[in-house]
Amino acid sequence: MEKAGAPPPPSLQVQYESLALEAALSTLLAVALYSALKMSVDGIRHWRARVSVLVVGAGPVGLTAALVAVRSGKVLKLTLLDERSRAALLCRAQQIALDPRSVRFLLGLGVDFDNMEGCWEQEHFFTKIGVFQEHLLSILEQHKRRLAVHILLGTKFSDDFLKKNLVSNWPEIIVLADGSRGESSAVLGISPEYIVESCNAYGANAVIERPDQRQVPTPEIRAHSLYFDLSAYGMDMSAMRKESPKPGFHLKIYGTFRNRYLALACPASDSKMVRFLRHTLNSSIMKNVFHQSFNAYKMDIEPRVNELTLHHIQCSARLFEIMLSHRRVTAAFIDGDNVVVTVEGEAARVLNFDTGCGVNLGLIGLESTEELIYKVATAMDQHDIFEALAAKIRHSKQVVEDFKQNGLFTTMFE
Ligand SMILES: Cc1cc2nc3c(=O)[nH]c(=O)nc-3n(C[C@H](O)[C@H](O)[C@H](O)COP(=O)(O)OP(=O)(O)OC[C@H]3O[C@@H](n4cnc5c(N)ncnc54)[C@H](O)[C@@H]3O)c2cc1C
Repeated sequence: MEKAGAPPPPSLQVQYESLALEAALSTLLAVALYSALKMSVDGIRHWRARVSVLVVGAGPVGLTAALVAVRSGKVLKLTLLDERSRAALLCRAQQIALDPRSVRFLLGLGVDFDNMEGCWEQEHFFTKIGVFQEHLLSILEQHKRRLAVHILLGTKFSDDFLKKNLVSNWPEIIVLADGSRGESSAVLGISPEYIVESCNAYGANAVIERPDQRQVPTPEIRAHSLYFDLSAYGMDMSAMRKESPKPGFHLKIYGTFRNRYLALACPASDSKMVRFLRHTLNSSIMKNVFHQSFNAYKMDIEPRVNELTLHHIQCSARLFEIMLSHRRVTAAFIDGDNVVVTVEGEAARVLNFDTGCGVNLGLIGLESTEELIYKVATAMDQHDIFEALAAKIRHSKQVVEDFKQNGLFTTMFE
């Protein structure tokens, strides 16, 4: 008889050990099988996951958002709507400048710059908004062959549209890109509040309209460290010359010869010239500054502005503080209907100063849209959706911070 607590004889011990090994192996196998099964089920679920997306606004940002959606591979149905007709959208003549970052982003979405009217200079692409929108619309239309893509032009997003089309058939994601005057977010009950922040710079804009001039894409001109002789207006220039550090201005001339735009800016300072131009009541001083600057830096082949054509210039009366307004709420979740909403482009953030690069800021905001679509499409529960929204909101805030820090440097000061 064996004593209790005494070790089993050698033959029994071998049996125990092999049983324990067998149990461990089968547990391991079960875990491995479960993991493999879960991974393949998750993989299939991720692979099959598709959402329906509605984009409001077919401006440059809305159209790019629509392209991001169809290229994400996670969209089953895309609806794009704009209150303007196709003709009204495509005749927009303003010129836009796409910077190298936007160009790379758009190339990744299948934009073919070789087949778009425009011109290149220093890796920037200059084209008209209407031409850009037409190109993006044509790419979207090509996707109709393999996806449910509905483009509803001349259709306003309104309470009425919502009641008739969405209430029983909500998309999972709505992208609002209805521009700086858009009111679509109010339709969805999203706060209309904006935060207005200084970019620590002053600026002024001018436009020269000359209907007899050509309307073809034209590279921009930049000039730096400019000073203006304002002695004719009673300013003591000798005192200004002694100032240190010297507050130079940055000038940009852009747009077509027919619609020429000028932007003048400088980092915020309390220098004599800046103070003078900020507080003058004489609006002809600023007009004269733009007049002289244009004639000094314009392209050789375009006509000068002279005393007879001076009335073609419309400009700010004085230097103003450059401010960035950005929405307090740029992403939201409509509880009950389970809809994720994001606000993009000028509907989300807009400057009170035209740098000629407004579209680029809107496109940076879209760099996180594909990730949002992927995460929403593959979300297991609301927690995953909120994580996706939180990441989008973080990115939106980062876009604002980066612009406040560096935006004017890249668009004006270098
Ligand atoms: C005079 C001027 C000159 C400019 N020059 C330049 C330049 O040289 N370079 C540059 O990069 N940028 C320039 N900009 C800025 C540029 O036009 C904007 O940055 C750009 O258009 C913003 O794009 P978006 O798609 O966000 O908005 P938008 O282009 O404003 O598009 C919004 C769209 O939403 C639609 N919409 C609005 N409400 C609704 C609704 N309820 N239902 C359906 N559709 C709706 C509108 O019809 C519109 O088509 C200029 C702007 C102006 C005004």
